[in-house]
Amino acid sequence: MASERQIHVGDLPIGGGAPVAVQTMTKTETANLPATMAQICDVAEAGADIVRVAVPREQDAEALKTIVAESPIPVIADIHFNHTLALKAIEAGAHCVRLNPGNIGGPEKVAEVIEAARRAATPLRVGVNSGSLPKHLRDLEFDDPVEALVTAAVETVELMERLDFTNFKVSMKSTSVPNTIASNRMLAQRIPYPLHLGITEAGTKWSGSLKSAVGLGTLLADGIGDTIRISLSTFHAEEEVKVAWEILKALKLRERGPVLIACPTCGRLQFDMDSVVAEVERRLEAYDDPIEVSVLGCAVNGIGEARHADFGITGAKDMGMIYSKGEPLKKVPTEQLVDELFKEIDRYYAAGRRVQRDEHQAAQARQWLAENEDATAMTPERIAALEAAAASDDAAAEAVLGGMLQTVGAEAPDEDSSPVAGRRFTRR
Ligand code: SF4
Repeated sequence: MASERQIHVGDLPIGGGAPVAVQTMTKTETANLPATMAQICDVAEAGADIVRVAVPREQDAEALKTIVAESPIPVIADIHFNHTLALKAIEAGAHCVRLNPGNIGGPEKVAEVIEAARRAATPLRVGVNSGSLPKHLRDLEFDDPVEALVTAAVETVELMERLDFTNFKVSMKSTSVPNTIASNRMLAQRIPYPLHLGITEAGTKWSGSLKSAVGLGTLLADGIGDTIRISLSTFHAEEEVKVAWEILKALKLRERGPVLIACPTCGRLQFDMDSVVAEVERRLEAYDDPIEVSVLGCAVNGIGEARHADFGITGAKDMGMIYSKGEPLKKVPTEQLVDELFKEIDRYYAAGRRVQRDEHQAAQARQWLAENEDATAMTPERIAALEAAAASDDAAAEAVLGGMLQTVGAEAPDEDSSPVAGRRFTRR
């Protein structure tokens, strides 16, 4: 359920079915032009569609003129409390201005900003924040914080409409993930305007990414949300962009760059997969294509769930295998796996996206796979597949499980109880 209305921030459409736009905010002092422009270039390179800059002082509004002229992506001016700065940002050519009408100094000042935005055809992002709801909603906020947030947002929208202004998107910010989900679901039913999603003050890279993935991911999976910003406590704004992209890629809402799949590892692992996965991830950053690359910690599953991957590797103590689309390509010593994987990927692109297969090498790899595969082993993947089957057909899954356990003659291991300390690494 995309928003009914669409606006444009610069040339970028927001809402109305346009791809969900990724935005972030610079962490620099805006008036420090070299630092701000360097960060804008970094976030644009990382995939930001839009960048927001804080404009708390006159000199920041002044710097906006240069920033807007030189930025490779549209620029939003972030204004609080000072309607004069909003007017200056519009005059400087900001592609959008973010303000909360409730804290800009009263109805006349809001009307003045709206009139300037209308004349310049500048869209606004208007919104409410759980930390600063209007006084008349404080009691409601205590009883029903979600209804209070939505009421404040709807009142803001009605104010814009009374001023005959519809060139805006709306945000409702809360530090609570459940409240963010519930309030945006409710608001999406009540207004036709594009929605900006974010979890305010989400936290560190680790916790903030998870909170954002849960909150924003839930809404995006419902089709709610037209632009997202991941708020992380880091000076590296490009990290926010990368997290936003991972959420969009996981939901298959947008594609950007390779997709890396890696098994969770378990006690069957016989090589240093942590280092291998990190190295594969690092090298994949050089590719723009949405190629899918898989890393399996062992071949006991065969190629298993990585059958659909464009390329993949699986290893054992001394030898490993490179495969493509479920078919073995070649067997190589474990320490050469990553280099050989990227040689195959580069050959694929050099040949116009065609996999290059040497039948002799492929036969050796198939032989290696046959020797290392164990069709009776209860691997995490097979247990997961059985559990999924059980969810849809309990009786059938039990029969399969019983048969497998009889074959193995042992109790099935449980992935969650696998002794992490017992992982076997062969460091090279
Ligand atoms: S059994 Fe599965 S989880 Fe364990 S190392 Fe092999 S591929 Fe990875």
